Amino acid sequence: MRRLANGLIVVCCLLLLANTAQAGGLVRITERVYAYVDAQDTSPANSFGANAGIIIGENGIAVVDTLVSAKEAQRFLRDIAAISGKPVKYVINTHHHLDHAFGNAEFARLGATIIAHAADGSNMRQQAANVLANAGQYGLTPEDLAGTEIACPDLTFSDRLQLDLGGVEVELIYPAPSHSAGSILVHLPGEKVVFAGDVLFTDVHPYMGEGDISGWQRTLDLLAGLEAEVIIPGHGPLSNQKDVAEMKEYIAIFDRKAKELAAKGADDPEAAVAEMKKNLPERTRGEWLIGANLKIKYLAGSPPKP
Ligand SMILES: [Zn+2]
Repeated sequence: MRRLANGLIVVCCLLLLANTAQAGGLVRITERVYAYVDAQDTSPANSFGANAGIIIGENGIAVVDTLVSAKEAQRFLRDIAAISGKPVKYVINTHHHLDHAFGNAEFARLGATIIAHAADGSNMRQQAANVLANAGQYGLTPEDLAGTEIACPDLTFSDRLQLDLGGVEVELIYPAPSHSAGSILVHLPGEKVVFAGDVLFTDVHPYMGEGDISGWQRTLDLLAGLEAEVIIPGHGPLSNQKDVAEMKEYIAIFDRKAKELAAKGADDPEAAVAEMKKNLPERTRGEWLIGANLKIKYLAGSPPKP
């Protein structure tokens, strides 16, 4: 009996290994959903550790976000091919940022329709070429970006959009401006899964430079109401409702404290970051974003240090 139990454990382990190997870096969330989650390498070349994923319907695949470069998108395509031979019909951009949308062209080339919210579709059209041309300032080298081209959304929407992939319902929801003007949630009600994009950062300090705090709070409330069992954040590990509540708390504390510092005319960036850290909930990665958020969104008008 014991031998049988041990044997079963070995078989189960082998199956798990086989599953992981088959999926490359993509983790199986449900039978129809796979995702990159919780990348330990958060370097710019590795898409800053951004998550992305796929939804597999009977008629084809929808890709949610495309990573930071042609090279990264090619890695993604190889991992998809190891799971399913179905065509990629759609790319859904949760928002316009480079680490989520600069792999678009590799999928567009294969005939995928690229979908985004209208506000971030327009952000991409206005900003992406310039961001790509100046990508060195984000730590990306010409080699990282070799072959990378911008592909803007072909299809945009303003409120909600339903996609039919065959046998799996996909709802794109735009509650309000949040992490960016056009960040959306990708809700799969039948799977009880949501791709939250950068509306949710779990255990990683969020980027808030374009943040709309009250809209972001409403978006997180709506996300909580979707009653998903698994939430895939834009960065960090698979998440749940507790992480959504913590994110809401984090941005409220950040906003309140940063406004206090700005009102006091804080002019020493290091001291301001140290003061923020005393108040913010702890997060393991992305600490550099505290200073970036302060500089971009809150302290831009502070007098320069003498
Ligand atoms: Zn983002």
